[in-house]
Amino acid sequence: MKNKILNIYQAAESPFLLAKRLGINEASIIKLNANENPYGCLPSVQKRLAKASYHQYPDHTQRKIKEYLSGYTNCALEKLIAGSGADEIIDLVCRLLLKPGDRVLIFPPCFPYYEHVLGLNNLTSVSINRTNQLLIDDEQVNSFDLSKVSLVIIASPNNPSGDLVKSSTLKTILDAGVYVLLDEAYYEFSKVSCQEWQLNYPNLIICRTLSKMFGLAGLRLGYGIMEPNLAKQLHKIKPPYNITIAAEEALIASIDDLSILQQQLVKIIKTRDLLFHKLTKIPEIKAFKSEANFILFKSLKKNNQEIYNFLLSKGILTRFYDFPKFGAYIRVSVGTAEQMEIFHQELSSAMNN
Ligand SMILES: *Cc1c(COP(=O)(O)O)cnc(C)c1O
Repeated sequence: MKNKILNIYQAAESPFLLAKRLGINEASIIKLNANENPYGCLPSVQKRLAKASYHQYPDHTQRKIKEYLSGYTNCALEKLIAGSGADEIIDLVCRLLLKPGDRVLIFPPCFPYYEHVLGLNNLTSVSINRTNQLLIDDEQVNSFDLSKVSLVIIASPNNPSGDLVKSSTLKTILDAGVYVLLDEAYYEFSKVSCQEWQLNYPNLIICRTLSKMFGLAGLRLGYGIMEPNLAKQLHKIKPPYNITIAAEEALIASIDDLSILQQQLVKIIKTRDLLFHKLTKIPEIKAFKSEANFILFKSLKKNNQEIYNFLLSKGILTRFYDFPKFGAYIRVSVGTAEQMEIFHQELSSAMNN
C-alpha cells in the first residue's frame, strides 16, 4: 500500500478555505503561512504574462531559462537545471542518485517535504535531531558514520528555524564524500551561498526557488546548481515539459526588473529584524533569530495551538507545528510593515488574554 505516505505532507492552509470558514472576504486574510513575497509579483510580470502565447509546448531544453538563471547566479549554463519548484529538483535528485531502501540523512525540525519525498521514493530517512536551540548538533554529526547514508539534505537557512548551516559542519559532511543537497530556498534573504564550494566538492548539489523573494510561488519555478554531468543526467529524467511558458516569461520579466525585487528585499529584511526585536520584547515568547523571511517562535507559558487559533480567528494565517520531541511552535512569514504591525498587536493581545 503506497497510501500511508500520502498523509505525511501537510501543505499550508489555503486562505480560500479559511475565509469560507470564518465567513469573511478572502482578500482580508493576512497570509503569513508560506513565506511568500508580500508585495506580490511584479507589474512587469503581469504585463508579460498577458502578452505571451501559450498554445505551443515550452522548450524542453530550458535554454532561455538557463541563460537567464546563468546571468542571475553567475554560474555556467551546464551546471543548471530548472524544475517545477525546488520541490521537483529535490525529487529528481532523489530519483537520480538513490535506489529504494537507500538512507538519507536529515536534521529535524526541517522542511516537512523532505520526509514526504523520501517516503514517495521508498527511501529511508535517518534523522539527527537538532539541539534545543534548533541548531544542527555538531557532536552528533561528528560521531555519525556518514558512509551509512547515500544523501544528506540540509536547508540553509533552515525552514522553520531560520539558521544557516555552519561552514565547519558542512565541510565535515562533504569531506566524507557523501552527496549533499543544500537547499538554499531562502538564499536571497541570507545573502549567503555555498555555490563556490562546488569547485572543491562535486558532491555538493544546490537547489533554489523563485517562490520566495521572486514572488512566483504560484507559477512553480526552482532550479538546481550542480556538477555538469549530474545536471546532464537530471535533464534526461525530468518530465520533458516541466517548466511552463508562463514561468519562463515571469522569470525573464523578473530578472529584467531585479532592482525592484532588491528594493523589496531590503524592506523585508528590515521588517524581519524589527519583528524579531519586538518578539524578544514580549515576555514569555522565545523567538529564533532568522536569516530568512520568516521567524519561528513559541510561547513558553501559553498553549501555542491556542495562540495560533486566536490569530486565525482574527484572519491572520500563520503556521503551527507540533514537532515530535520538540513540541509546539508557530512560524510567521515576514509580510509588509503594516501586516506585521497588525500581527504584533494581535499576538500581544493573545498573550495578555
Ligand atoms: C519553500 C521551500 C522550498 C520549495 O519551494 P518551491 O515552491 O517548490 O520552489 C524548498 N525548500 C524549502 C526549505 C522551502 O521552504
